[in-house]
Amino acid sequence: MAENHPPPDSPVLPQTFDGAKQIRFQCRKGIACWNACCSNIDISLTPYDILRLKHRFGISSGEFLQKYTVPYEMERDSIAGVKLRPVENGTACQFMTPEGCSVYEDRPTACRYYPVALLSLRRQDESTDRDSYALVRETHCLGHNEPRPITVDDYRKEQGLVEYDELARGWRQLVLKKKSSGPTIGKPSVRSRQLFFMACYDIDRFRPFVASDGFNDLYDLPPETLEKILGDDTELMLFGFRFLMQVLFGDESISMRHEAVEQRRLRHQAKAQRMEIEAAERRAAERDGMYENPDE
Ligand code: SF4
Ligand code: SF4
Repeated sequence: MAENHPPPDSPVLPQTFDGAKQIRFQCRKGIACWNACCSNIDISLTPYDILRLKHRFGISSGEFLQKYTVPYEMERDSIAGVKLRPVENGTACQFMTPEGCSVYEDRPTACRYYPVALLSLRRQDESTDRDSYALVRETHCLGHNEPRPITVDDYRKEQGLVEYDELARGWRQLVLKKKSSGPTIGKPSVRSRQLFFMACYDIDRFRPFVASDGFNDLYDLPPETLEKILGDDTELMLFGFRFLMQVLFGDESISMRHEAVEQRRLRHQAKAQRMEIEAAERRAAERDGMYENPDE
């Protein structure tokens, strides 16, 4: 699923449109190209896709990530994304069966959208409707020849995408914000990349992080909020988006304990000073010839 304008050699057609656009498409059992689209996959997952699939299998997010996904960089030196891992030594989806998708009720967003590409989604805080889509036309897909007209809005409803898009909105905003911040903000630190990965994709590792004393010393969450977040994966995921918006972009929506923040700032300052002193001492020692060069 594309989220930006397609490159010139992409099967995504250049015309973009809104949800009222009528397309002609139907995918149905018995069609001659059955499973062709699932035989050669490139499926990016949203955090909600991962939740749905890991619940389906009754496994932890860590197990799901390890068995069924590969990480990738959405942009060079930028934030991480996660894709479905194809079958060993092949390109087909691990969930494909002769009867079709074996995880159909929980299939990922990109599979639901196909052959529509979501180019951008209206921000929640914007009143104007800017959702924009394009059509993906690949020669192997015969669904475009089926005589069924349907608007994109109805197609999204039919495919259960209203809920999926709503629950991925915070994540998309984070991704777009990072992409649009560009090189001026620079390469995110290793820690922020790890936080992003954990909060977005590895929810079962994010939960103990949120439950930890260290986190609660810093963030002032009412006990009932904490209980709600820790007891429900979807709530925890949505909280994770807010947390990342705050940590990565300073968009403060979670109250902090300012005394603890100040103490942490002082600790970091002291550490930075210590490191600076040690580096200066090392430079002075080198200057004074105290470090012997083994080649001499
Ligand atoms: S998850 Fe299902 S629909 Fe998506 S690529 Fe795999 S088999 Fe196809
Ligand atoms: S019609 Fe398109 S989406 Fe449906 S099985 Fe064929 S290739 Fe896949």
